[in-house]
Amino acid sequence: MKYIFGPVPSRRLGQSLGIDPLPLKTCNWNCVYCQLGRSVPLTNERQEYFPREEILAEVEQALKSHTPEEIDWVTFVGSGETTLHAGIGWLVQQVKARTENPVAVITNGSLLYLPEVRQALYLADAVLPSLDAGSPGLYRKINRPHPDITFERLVEGLLAFRKEYSGKLWVEVMLIKGLNDNEPALKEIGTVLDDIHPDEVHILLPERPPAETWVQPADEDGLSRACTILGISTRGIHPTSGVFDLSGAESLVEAVIGIITRHPMRESELVETLKHYSPDEVLATLAALEKSGKAQQVERLGTCYWSAAPAYYPSGKHNEGD
Ligand code: SF4
Repeated sequence: MKYIFGPVPSRRLGQSLGIDPLPLKTCNWNCVYCQLGRSVPLTNERQEYFPREEILAEVEQALKSHTPEEIDWVTFVGSGETTLHAGIGWLVQQVKARTENPVAVITNGSLLYLPEVRQALYLADAVLPSLDAGSPGLYRKINRPHPDITFERLVEGLLAFRKEYSGKLWVEVMLIKGLNDNEPALKEIGTVLDDIHPDEVHILLPERPPAETWVQPADEDGLSRACTILGISTRGIHPTSGVFDLSGAESLVEAVIGIITRHPMRESELVETLKHYSPDEVLATLAALEKSGKAQQVERLGTCYWSAAPAYYPSGKHNEGD
């Protein structure tokens, strides 16, 4: 399958059947912590990156091969900013008509200032935008947005969406050591959140390879400071657990590429996830994919991860000197 992955375990959404409507990597932000590497080039053009009917046909096929009980959420998420796909509203509507499972959209929220983007997400059961900074300067430092997507537009969009949207609005804050885990930064984020009134605030920590080598997750002190200042429990900040279901893939190569394109993984995780194949087969496939230029190893957070080769991680294991 080209557009569907999983169900995969998600920190917030249990077993999530992922719909990825974008080519790697299509984003109007270039977050320092992005697990898909740097956004090169930065794109802020809304268009039909893949034909919507093709995506929907795969969704129908995936829904037929799973019982509703095997899936907690059907989630639009993937290789960049989901709302850059011009057909996102149509896709949400069509998927909602085909499943009893709730539908979520993970977005950076940057385009919610556009009425047509807000309207596109009305039918989703949950929308999960990001708010990593409460000031324009820190926003530019962490999210490194396209010049058209200002902090003022981000906040304006979130406020407008909150007023109009009746589903669950869960705002995500990625907590990075030395950037937004200090008291002044957290207080600024808290002030914006007070205005938005999300249903929940989720604190996340980078747990897959960040685009930049120097990014580190906040430590225990930073985490507890964030929970205190943002007034939330520590629920949802633990590492992901659950089962990656790669049964929809037609071959081992497809399974590996499908997963590492969206979730770069440690070698041991891949061997565990693909346990219906022998470890030797998995390792041989990874080596062959690396040799043919389709996969790469990236060193981050003191660990080596496998990712899809088009992803760009400066100064990763195979990008020395970039
Ligand atoms: S984390 Fe999300 S919003 Fe940020 S650069 Fe990556 S895909 Fe884009």
